[in-house]
Amino acid sequence: MQAYCVKCRTQRDMNDPRDEMTKNNRPIIKGKCANCGTGLNIIGKTIAQMG
Ligand SMILES: [Zn+2]
Repeated sequence: MQAYCVKCRTQRDMNDPRDEMTKNNRPIIKGKCANCGTGLNIIGKTIAQMG
Protein backbone atom coordinates (compact mmCIF):
# COMPACT_ATOMS: atom_id res chain seq x y z
CA MET A 1 0.00 0.00 0.00
CA GLN A 2 1.11 3.55 -0.53
CA ALA A 3 1.04 6.74 1.51
CA TYR A 4 2.28 10.27 1.02
CA CYS A 5 5.81 10.79 2.35
CA VAL A 6 6.49 14.36 3.48
CA LYS A 7 10.22 13.86 3.02
CA CYS A 8 10.08 12.40 -0.49
CA ARG A 9 7.13 14.70 -1.30
CA THR A 10 5.39 11.93 -3.21
CA GLN A 11 3.49 8.69 -2.76
CA ARG A 12 5.73 5.89 -1.53
CA ASP A 13 5.31 2.21 -0.72
CA MET A 14 4.86 1.63 3.01
CA ASN A 15 7.04 -0.91 4.82
CA ASP A 16 5.85 -2.78 7.91
CA PRO A 17 2.30 -1.38 7.92
CA ARG A 18 0.37 -1.99 11.14
CA ASP A 19 -3.07 -1.10 12.42
CA GLU A 20 -3.25 1.20 15.42
CA MET A 21 -5.78 3.51 17.02
CA THR A 22 -5.38 7.22 17.60
CA LYS A 23 -6.11 8.87 20.94
CA ASN A 24 -9.51 9.72 19.49
CA ASN A 25 -10.22 6.04 18.82
CA ARG A 26 -9.90 6.37 15.09
CA PRO A 27 -8.10 3.73 13.03
CA ILE A 28 -4.71 4.61 11.66
CA ILE A 29 -2.20 2.65 9.61
CA LYS A 30 1.40 3.29 10.58
CA GLY A 31 4.45 2.23 8.63
CA LYS A 32 7.70 3.43 7.14
CA CYS A 33 8.62 4.89 3.79
CA ALA A 34 10.29 2.19 1.67
CA ASN A 35 12.53 4.86 0.17
CA CYS A 36 13.74 6.94 3.12
CA GLY A 37 12.41 5.28 6.30
CA THR A 38 10.31 8.23 7.43
CA GLY A 39 7.19 7.29 9.37
CA LEU A 40 4.04 7.23 7.23
CA ASN A 41 0.44 7.38 8.44
CA ILE A 42 -2.89 6.73 6.78
CA ILE A 43 -5.53 8.17 9.09
CA GLY A 44 -9.03 6.75 9.17
CA LYS A 45 -8.19 3.46 7.45
CA THR A 46 -7.36 -0.09 8.45
CA ILE A 47 -5.12 -2.48 6.56
CA ALA A 48 -8.20 -4.60 5.75
CA GLN A 49 -9.87 -1.59 4.12
CA MET A 50 -6.83 -1.02 1.94
CA GLY A 51 -7.13 -4.52 0.55
ZN1 LIG B 1 10.17 8.94 1.98
